[in-house]
Amino acid sequence: MKFGGTSVGDIARIKNVARRVKAEVDRGNQVAVAVSAMSGVTNQLVAYCNEMAPIHDQREYDAVVATGEQVTSGLLAIGLQELGLQARSWAGWQIPIMTDDAHGKARIVDIKGDEIISLMEKGHVAVVAGFQGIAPGNRVSTLGRGGSDTTAVALAAALKADRCDIYTDVDGVYTTDPRIVPAARKLDKVSYEEMLEMASLGAKVLQTRSVEMAMKHHVRVQVLSSFSDAPGTLICDEDEIVEQALVSGIAYSRDEAKITLIGVEDMPGIAAGIFGPLAEANINVDMIVQNTARDNTTDVTFTTPRADLERALKVVKDNMKVPYKSISTDKSVVKISVVGVGMRSHAGVAQIMFKALADRKINIHVISTSEIKVSVLISEEYTELALRALHTSYGLDAA
Ligand code: ADP
Ligand code: ASP
Ligand code: MG
Repeated sequence: MKFGGTSVGDIARIKNVARRVKAEVDRGNQVAVAVSAMSGVTNQLVAYCNEMAPIHDQREYDAVVATGEQVTSGLLAIGLQELGLQARSWAGWQIPIMTDDAHGKARIVDIKGDEIISLMEKGHVAVVAGFQGIAPGNRVSTLGRGGSDTTAVALAAALKADRCDIYTDVDGVYTTDPRIVPAARKLDKVSYEEMLEMASLGAKVLQTRSVEMAMKHHVRVQVLSSFSDAPGTLICDEDEIVEQALVSGIAYSRDEAKITLIGVEDMPGIAAGIFGPLAEANINVDMIVQNTARDNTTDVTFTTPRADLERALKVVKDNMKVPYKSISTDKSVVKISVVGVGMRSHAGVAQIMFKALADRKINIHVISTSEIKVSVLISEEYTELALRALHTSYGLDAA
């Protein structure tokens, strides 16, 4: 069982979580629990680090931000003991959950589950601090924002759990963010592959890596609400889903910025010249378009994470060997993506998107597609309008 930040947001809620865990134990299950920090705490800890020094040692950042989860794991263990259960908390390093040394966004490489398993066999509940592990050199590491989901799935895989139940503040995975589109519908089931796309395209209900991990180790993940007993969403293999919709979900990401190089001389090596230095600087480039040349010059547009925009701009300006006229940037853009395995076998999916946006006079800056998704970059001010329009156009609105 995993409980997110809102679910452990105060003492009353942690007591509520303890009761839910007890109910699972009473049903005869052996339970390990992963917890997030109380909502808002991680943001506060990150802010403290930035206040101390805008650019700081990532290992110390990890030492600071990992503390939020330690507080909730201890509190939940106390709450479980109060209900008469045997329980103890585990920090990542105590298990240990071993990670690589990419501090701030470390990957789990191994979990030594033996001690937890032997205690669980004796009827103890293991309460694990999410989001953290231990990196080479005996340093505390964290798994990237939203990383407690990944702790939970990795632990489920290591313990060979029957299920991994992710409890959050919505009662499942919806066709799109229910906080923005009230007509969003809860999905009973969604395939690993679609969930992976939705998460990586911005649906933050699950961290992308947790879905990757679930897919790789065949962990049955359910997303449920901590605050109701409504049935949740099962993430499972595609062939377990009987009625597959054309489009299963629509995701959005505001974490985008657009850079356009105008009037670039059209010659071999443009793309390598622009994107090589960006790759060397570890800046992810996502969508790219290059226009056909006119008068021997062309425009090249691409996107980077918003937080990397200033750095990307500097890298391009410092390294651009090919002559160009000017460079422009735009931070107020959003990427909207429609996702569905149904696209593999049906034509015209993208056209529905283009028409729905055109009808609302929403201009598309960049388009990119893959086998099961179509993404467009549009102005951020149209986010809600576009999401709602697309949701209706693909027939996803709740009845
Ligand atoms: P937790 O703290 O429990 O990990 P998160 O805030 O990380 O919770 O994730 C849950 C949130 O994800 C929801 O409150 C919702 O606003 C958002 N969300 C975005 N896309 C979706 C979606 N397709 N289905 C459900 N929730 C979504
Ligand atoms: N507390 C961490 C965060 O806010 C990890 C998590 O909640 O999943 O990102
Ligand atoms: Mg989360």
